[in-house]
Amino acid sequence: MALLTSLPRGTADLLPAESWKWQRVEQTLRRLSALAGVEEIRTPTFEHTELFHRSVGDTTDVVQKEMYTFEDKGGRSVTLRPEGTAGAVRAFVQNGLAGAAASPVRLYYFTSCFRYEKPQAGRLREFHQYGVEMFGSADAAADAELIAFAQGIFDALDLAAQVRLEINSIGCAHCRADYHRALREYFSARRDELCETCQDRLERNPMRILDCKSPVCAAIAAGAPKILDFLCEDCQAHFDALRARLDALGVAYTVNPSIVRGLDYYNRTVFEFVTDRIGAQATVLGGGRYDTLVETLGGPSVPALGFAMGLERLQLLLENVGFWQAAAPPEGCRIYLASLSPAASDAAMKLAHELRRAGIAAQSDLCGRSLRAQMKYAGKLGAPYCVVLGDDELASGVCRLKDMRTGEEKETALAALAEAVRG
Ligand code: ATP
Ligand code: MG
Repeated sequence: MALLTSLPRGTADLLPAESWKWQRVEQTLRRLSALAGVEEIRTPTFEHTELFHRSVGDTTDVVQKEMYTFEDKGGRSVTLRPEGTAGAVRAFVQNGLAGAAASPVRLYYFTSCFRYEKPQAGRLREFHQYGVEMFGSADAAADAELIAFAQGIFDALDLAAQVRLEINSIGCAHCRADYHRALREYFSARRDELCETCQDRLERNPMRILDCKSPVCAAIAAGAPKILDFLCEDCQAHFDALRARLDALGVAYTVNPSIVRGLDYYNRTVFEFVTDRIGAQATVLGGGRYDTLVETLGGPSVPALGFAMGLERLQLLLENVGFWQAAAPPEGCRIYLASLSPAASDAAMKLAHELRRAGIAAQSDLCGRSLRAQMKYAGKLGAPYCVVLGDDELASGVCRLKDMRTGEEKETALAALAEAVRG
């Protein structure tokens, strides 16, 4: 029985007392997206496992330790998406958006993501992201546009003072050859202290060690050579151009040479918005450029970039800064239609449906309650208006409309109720 009444670890219910806050954030994000020419895409919850191996990368924590992978009844290996970019890029390629749509193509998504991680505040096994992807520009202007757009989200939610932007460049395949050599040299000297996964990464992808969560690896990684010292001329120029653009836009940032991000597909620009207000899981939004991913997944050579924002962490931040204190939850019921007889109950129900058609939230009795119990229920709903329908009201078509906040009553035609209570 216990299994039937308890959630799987790392998952959460979202109840009405909270879901309106998610809706408000979603409305804001959809509005900001539309203003910036970013359109919605919806992709499947699961994909072929291979998609994530090829994009996220075989040596990442996500692929090595965290994916919900299983064989379906047809014997295919599928994986619940651990992030949104791979599916968006797959859809971009498969649907031929590269040629068909005006470029740059800008897409956004709201998705649930699944990662087998150690649950804690701000870290779940099923969590939610709002993500944006932009395809078709290799210019640093696109990086600046995307980062400024992300900054605009925090501005719109009154969070500008709560987050800081950190950027870095992790170069390209060209500059990474030298960098990998330097990292191998550095980490080889302390090979035995590294965790088993990182000992394997030392050969296959030494940059991944920089993102290891084990405290010992992290301590060793702190002293490792920095990619910024190894950028090739083009990557350096791109990074300089991005910084100049951000300066021109008035977007404040710091350069954090330790940011490498946990997914393999990134190159050049990477960035994070970090906060001190939600504990150890401090990154609310992270992203970067991924110029080779479209081609890797079988598409044409199209440069791209994107970010994803953790919505649980965003809500945690909003909660912790008291954002909702000044916000009114949505009104559940504008008018309650009480009834005194079976005939009046029919009429009240019919009227409730008419009022809803007119855009008024209305409720009537569904439980055969006494008038007293109906009024108690109306009080719980917090309905600002109430009428009592009996045989007289049905005969005359006129009722007494009561304003529950002031106690005032006003004769009102049933046919005029909608206009009388409209806010
Ligand atoms: P972290 O370093 O915190 O594990 P990440 O680098 O794995 O984050 P991304 O894959 O870039 O995160 O995902 C983007 C955002 O999604 C993160 O910045 C964070 O806000 C959120 N996120 C990632 N993993 C989780 C999780 N397990 N639970 C809740 N939110 C998460
Ligand atoms: Mg992670």
